[in-house]
Amino acid sequence: MSDASHPAWIEIDVARFKRNIATVRREITSARLCVPIKANAYGHGLVPMARALVDEGIEYLAVAHSSEAVTCRRGGITAPILVLGAIHEEQIDDLLRYDIDFTISSAFKARLVAERCRARNKRCRVHLEVDTGMRRTGMRPETTRALYRELTSEPYAQFFDVVGIYSHLATGTHENDKIALDQIEKFSTLMLSPEFASQTFLKHLGNSAGMLNFSSAHFDMVRPALLCFGYAAPLGIDIEPCFSLKARVAYFKVVDEGEGISYGHSYVAPSRSRIVTIPVGYGDGFRRALSNRGSVLIRNKRYPIVGTICMDQFMVNVGNDDVYVGDEVVLIGRSGDQEISVAEIASLCDTIPYEILCNFNERIPRIYRH
Ligand SMILES: *Cc1c(COP(=O)(O)O)cnc(C)c1O
Repeated sequence: MSDASHPAWIEIDVARFKRNIATVRREITSARLCVPIKANAYGHGLVPMARALVDEGIEYLAVAHSSEAVTCRRGGITAPILVLGAIHEEQIDDLLRYDIDFTISSAFKARLVAERCRARNKRCRVHLEVDTGMRRTGMRPETTRALYRELTSEPYAQFFDVVGIYSHLATGTHENDKIALDQIEKFSTLMLSPEFASQTFLKHLGNSAGMLNFSSAHFDMVRPALLCFGYAAPLGIDIEPCFSLKARVAYFKVVDEGEGISYGHSYVAPSRSRIVTIPVGYGDGFRRALSNRGSVLIRNKRYPIVGTICMDQFMVNVGNDDVYVGDEVVLIGRSGDQEISVAEIASLCDTIPYEILCNFNERIPRIYRH
């Protein structure tokens, strides 16, 4: 959707995103960069962000589901794409047709893939996933070695190119984190086993936190996403968000002292106030938990959200200030020296920035500034 007349929009600063990518590259020196763009690129828009990454010469894109990879291919993205999640039998033909790299985490799936490769007379590129502690998907180290031996000998070798092996960290927010260190150790040990030690395929482990806190988690490639989108960066590194949510004031009124506002009258005006209505609601992904807690910026000034957030709109108390219908409102992002960050919103909603970003659906158009 790109309806420029819609009174709310998500603004993506593509130039800023590209600078983040350049910064991440400087942090990882020799390792390759794979940027996961699952969940609509953390709400930023799948294909436009994939294009920006291709412009930056990205080595690898990653997604959770094969459908996301197919959307990228149909959008003209030819760079390597890795599907991280488990694959399903019905997806194998598309994975082969669109030259999508995917993850093999069981002998059963390997057999299904081999059957389809034989039927279509095609080879495929796969990464093996080893579970070092996340306990989500991935095989135990011993099973991984055994499956690798199978995939690289006949009859499987005629179908499979094993191009990578990876694992995923369950923690890693500080450099002494025992669970993460243990996972890194397990992965390193496996990489020294006879099957893998001399292999030149891509060994990869670190996400944003893993990459930032453990240089020992870089291996041949890193998979940071949140960091690339501009979050969770340590002080002093040149990374900033590239996502803003803006709207125009849709309505203005004055309410008297004692008058309740919105569903359930959870807010009652303590004095005669000017109230403006903003045309964004939980139907767009703007969380209802921000009712009577969140704020917005209008003309560089912070004002409180009052009353319950509705599906399509919510109200803001602007006191006695002059605010007009059509004025620009910042729901996420900067206005002058003021900022409403995703972290602030996440904390008010008792969740993490990832969930806030992913929640924004396609109802609000996204505008890309290059
Ligand atoms: C989502 C995901 C990432 C990226 O995680 P961030 O914390 O956003 O850097 C990396 N690897 C895997 C397997 C993932 O699922």
